Amino acid sequence: MRDQQRRFDRREYLTLAGGAGVATTIGLAGCLEDAEGNGDDGNGDDEDDGNGDGEDVADDGENGTDDAEGETIVPGTAPGFEPFQMNVDGELVGFDIDLLEAVVAETEYELGDWEELEFDSLIPALENENIDVIAAAMTITEEREESIAFTEPYYSADQSVLVQSGGDVEADDLEDLEGLEVGAQSGTTGEGVVEDELGDDVDYTSYDNYVLAVEELERGTLDAIVIDEPVAESFAGDRDVEIAFTFETGEEYGFGVRQDAEELQEALSEGIAAVEESSEYDEITQEWFDE
Ligand code: GLN
Repeated sequence: MRDQQRRFDRREYLTLAGGAGVATTIGLAGCLEDAEGNGDDGNGDDEDDGNGDGEDVADDGENGTDDAEGETIVPGTAPGFEPFQMNVDGELVGFDIDLLEAVVAETEYELGDWEELEFDSLIPALENENIDVIAAAMTITEEREESIAFTEPYYSADQSVLVQSGGDVEADDLEDLEGLEVGAQSGTTGEGVVEDELGDDVDYTSYDNYVLAVEELERGTLDAIVIDEPVAESFAGDRDVEIAFTFETGEEYGFGVRQDAEELQEALSEGIAAVEESSEYDEITQEWFDE
């Protein structure tokens, strides 16, 4: 039943995918509006704005500097990256959504309402305190660690190259992409692979959202996409695209937090360990992956 439900949800997601770019644009506009004047969300110091039950747990007296505990933390994500995060009929669902909710339930923090942004806007939103935690299948990289901090990893992935199903592109390794039109989502490690490994040897296009790139691939107006392997598999299951090959990167996803949010970072890492040790991690994995 659950599988049927999930397939149904995915089909619905596909029919909506054409509007994905519009949806993310609206999401971004909303965020910018908030940043401009409506400071009531995303800012971690709003702890005393009516949510009394969160504060009670904070007073455990364990640690005098423990003023972050019990606060509501605002999570941010970037839908369109199935099965980690996607928007189905206006509802945000996916592996990262369920996992962060389970992880935060292990801590003394309260989880606020999700903010949906473009992937490229997540780190700036975290730095601006519009959100407090990123849950977006974001790979832990040294470059990102110059501006933000990550929890312990919760998932590993490589990069895959997606091409049109039954199309002309025959590629077994990155060199075979030379001279072709290649796409990735802006600011991702997939984009990094194109830049680092192929540079000017390909005609590269950066997309706000991978869904838009996959649509170009289906139409045949783009030759290949570099994208995280689990998401490539998911698109290959739903769409007229297939994995040509996978390029090993061994990257690991972590939840992103601000560098000065050490207590939150530690609490979330402990929460990940607790969820992994319980049956919850496997349950969430089963729900979102055919494993
Ligand atoms: N894991 C990739 C990255 O961190 C892609 C993440 C995403 O597109 N949501 O860059």
